[in-house]
Amino acid sequence: MPDSPQLRYHLAQLAELCRNYPFDRKIVFVPSRQIGHNLGTALLRAGVSWVNLHLTTPADWAAKLAESKLKAAGWRPLVQGADHFFMLEAIQRMEWPSGHSFDGSYSAMGLAATCLKTARALRMAEIPPETLASADVALPGRSMFIDLYTTYCEWLEDEQLYDEATLFAEAQKASSPDSIVGILDETPLSESAYRFITSIGNPLVRIGRSDYGKPGPQHSALVRFQQTSPVGSGESAGPGGRVQTDGIFASDGDLVQIREAVGIENEVRGVLREYVRHGVSLDGIEIVYTSEDPYLPLLVDSLEQLDLPATFAAGIPVTLTRPGQALIGFFRWIAKDFDQDELVRLLRSRLLFLPPVNGTARSYAVGDGASSSRKMIESTEVARIILEARVGPGRTSWATALGSIRARTEGEISAGISEGRRRHHERRLALIRGANSVLNKLYSLPPDSEHTSLREMARAGAAFLDGFGWKQTHRDKRARDSLMDRLTDLAESGSARGRLHDLSALMAELLTGHKVEAAIARPGHIYVVPLERAGYTGRGETAIIGLSETTFPGVATEDPILLDDERARVSGRLVLQRARASEPAWHFIRTMGMASGRVTLTASRRDTTDGRETYPSAIFEQIREQLGIKHPPVYRTVPDVEAALSGAEVVMALRGTMAVMREVLHERPWLLNGLQAVRNRSAVPFGPHDGWLGRETPELRPSVTKAVSASRLEALAACPHRYFLRYVLGVRPPDQEEERPGQWLAPLEFGSLLHEVLRKFMEGVSSRGEAVDVDRHTGEMMDHLYETVSLYRDRLPARYETGYRIDIRRLERAVQIFLAEESRRRTEPVGFEVSFGMGNRGDLAVPEPVALKLDDDVQLLLRGSIDRVDRSDDGYEVWDYKSGSTYDYDEADMLSGGRRLQWALYAYVLDELLARAGMNGGTQSSGYFFPSDREHGLRLSAKPPSRAEVGNRLAPLFELVGKGAFLHVQKNKACTYCDYRSICALERKGKKDLGVVFDDPVTRPFYDALATWMDVERTG
Ligand code: SF4
Repeated sequence: MPDSPQLRYHLAQLAELCRNYPFDRKIVFVPSRQIGHNLGTALLRAGVSWVNLHLTTPADWAAKLAESKLKAAGWRPLVQGADHFFMLEAIQRMEWPSGHSFDGSYSAMGLAATCLKTARALRMAEIPPETLASADVALPGRSMFIDLYTTYCEWLEDEQLYDEATLFAEAQKASSPDSIVGILDETPLSESAYRFITSIGNPLVRIGRSDYGKPGPQHSALVRFQQTSPVGSGESAGPGGRVQTDGIFASDGDLVQIREAVGIENEVRGVLREYVRHGVSLDGIEIVYTSEDPYLPLLVDSLEQLDLPATFAAGIPVTLTRPGQALIGFFRWIAKDFDQDELVRLLRSRLLFLPPVNGTARSYAVGDGASSSRKMIESTEVARIILEARVGPGRTSWATALGSIRARTEGEISAGISEGRRRHHERRLALIRGANSVLNKLYSLPPDSEHTSLREMARAGAAFLDGFGWKQTHRDKRARDSLMDRLTDLAESGSARGRLHDLSALMAELLTGHKVEAAIARPGHIYVVPLERAGYTGRGETAIIGLSETTFPGVATEDPILLDDERARVSGRLVLQRARASEPAWHFIRTMGMASGRVTLTASRRDTTDGRETYPSAIFEQIREQLGIKHPPVYRTVPDVEAALSGAEVVMALRGTMAVMREVLHERPWLLNGLQAVRNRSAVPFGPHDGWLGRETPELRPSVTKAVSASRLEALAACPHRYFLRYVLGVRPPDQEEERPGQWLAPLEFGSLLHEVLRKFMEGVSSRGEAVDVDRHTGEMMDHLYETVSLYRDRLPARYETGYRIDIRRLERAVQIFLAEESRRRTEPVGFEVSFGMGNRGDLAVPEPVALKLDDDVQLLLRGSIDRVDRSDDGYEVWDYKSGSTYDYDEADMLSGGRRLQWALYAYVLDELLARAGMNGGTQSSGYFFPSDREHGLRLSAKPPSRAEVGNRLAPLFELVGKGAFLHVQKNKACTYCDYRSICALERKGKKDLGVVFDDPVTRPFYDALATWMDVERTG
């Protein structure tokens, strides 16, 4: 059959191979089994006959050739994760030199993962321990790692466990029948895989393009076999694949389209809306994500909510399922010494399916005899009993604690109480009995020794899942089955031993990365796939989401055990981590070139967690320019009504229509008051609804009699109306935004956690008189970080595990940046969290607020806390840690037109505190330090301005307050990220609106102050 003209190059080349060798055995190596399956389906759909074509991975083919021989000789496959437990045990057995930065329980856990990764890479590169030992490299803790690597290799040998490296080595010795051998360009080939492939297919044929416009991944088949030309002469790549060769043209706009989105949630929903709106068949859609975090959880959530069937090439994190969350929670509970709060959280989250108690299906008797009613016990009820009994930590105290509240209740019944109270107490007794039964089973599951084995831990996990794991939905069942299989494999895998708490913590860590439901593309389902596996289904619509610079192309971090330079010196066979950074861009071009239909590219332009603007990646911008598009269409929160995917979106889209308004006002009549306020605001330039009270309010003016904070003054300087809402009316925005899939902590919580860690660390280092040293202090900093994270997690349980992990990574990066930055500094820290007016007394701290006179009319009483005071040769420095971005900070104008006051005010306060403490010298500079990964340790600081300058900025604002004029007028656009924007952003007024105010005699009392503050000439 002739090939269809629109077949893309990879399918056309496979078709040509099949045509040239119709009956020969043809082995074509592909990166994964799924890809092989998807390619086979795409060939079938295109009508290509592929008799005797084997689409397989190098590892699968090696297993086919060598596995039976290995098994016959008594070898067993290495179970995924079992080597992690071995490595932990090996690290804990080692005698680390005292003070070594790897010594300590946290480090042992992290170190096991890092060492294991390096050891696996060395084995796949066929570099034995002796070669590493003789290499001319200075590894940190070199001899320790070489010992570990040697032990690891010996363990595999002694236990007769084969990994992929063994399989490839063994398969090279096996004879392989004559075949035509081909390989897809993108197939990764470690040294051992490469040697195996060349042993069976030399020469072989390439399936790929002759020029992608970008070098391929370092150890891909493309690079390994770069001298070989692709099969056949034609290379029909999709137009997007030409982005770095011939370029894309405006005429390609039908096949390559770009979209921007307000936030990542809208990016996902926008793509789905567009497909649904245009009636695209679900099995014609492939959605590609560039970054698992945060896109995969978002896609899972959105597809589930909208009831759109989908399969996931890389599966979904088990942390998005109830059995997964419950099992991980179970291991964390053990790791934390059976912590009461951990268990309560698990129960309150309704993650446990409560097993039968008192004989009959999950019920327990309430009341007595024939008149008794039967009621299901709820996990929240068990949680309540635990809290009431104060079960505490450890595995033994619970029974005594429950026994004592039971005895107390029984005692009260026997003492004689009213009939009503007796019934209440009996119900309570039944609850205690139910809780007792649940806890009895739960506490009996973990191994009862403090030292135990992986086998016992895995069995405990399986028993927990069996007794308490949900299996109500299909997803629950699949997750539970998959976890059961994993635990069974681990239980049978080996004899690693360790402390109960450590093995539990590692088990929780390993399972957090477990995925379920990995699947091929199926009819009737959208296919969701990570970028490196995308492009093989031949579907008509491909969407590539996550193309803003925050997620694409991402960063590659170096292996701390073997840095890139050291890798290069050990052997050219090891992949250099820095080379990995360009791999996503290459896969992007490959996917675009393979796409047989239209490709939609999306990038988010806003980080909705903090309102920060984000930017499209360089390649997205390049495509936009090549297509000649200035302003791409934008996916917004409120869609057009035709694009709405749910009832709620329809109502949002129609919210301005009379019918919807009438309906809403009928349900919520108090909203009429809001409508009335809107009308009143538009009736006059300024009235009571705009914040002008129409009378003087001198009692509200800041003075030396009532302490204020710097943030309060900054709110006034940003918008007097914001000051009025927050500090006069006391209107509080909702405390905590709803947790999002890509985020655990709200920005405020994130900032305070980071502050706390940095304070604890600096206090510790400083009290020992040490200077910060990144090599020496990394372990200590990490200990503070994880300890504080654990405290926060107790208080703020993470709903989304991915969000939790993203935040942890952000925090890890922030503290590493902090350490690197501090290591370079030569100043002496002399104060941390130096508070004034907060009731604390310390070296510089004073319990009372500090009075500041800025000029004759501006005097105030300030309270607050200075994050950090350093002493340098020139004097003192004030630093405030900022966990966010520098957006809204201006290095050239540190006062930002009068809105950023804290740094200057704190400098004046420090002068006062130094004088009180009798310390010489004054504040030489003050500013902000941004240790976040966004700003990479940037410092903005300046010599403090004169007090009179700050006084001049504040004077007209104080006067406006005294006149009772809390207007929604701003010098800069302050509404965008204001907590009150839903209340009054639409009424905001700027300079250009003030003419009408000055023309209105009614508003005369605040003319002058307003004109001075706004820096405008008054016309009236
Ligand atoms: S939304 Fe705008 S006008 Fe309203 S308080 Fe905030 S900054 Fe002021």
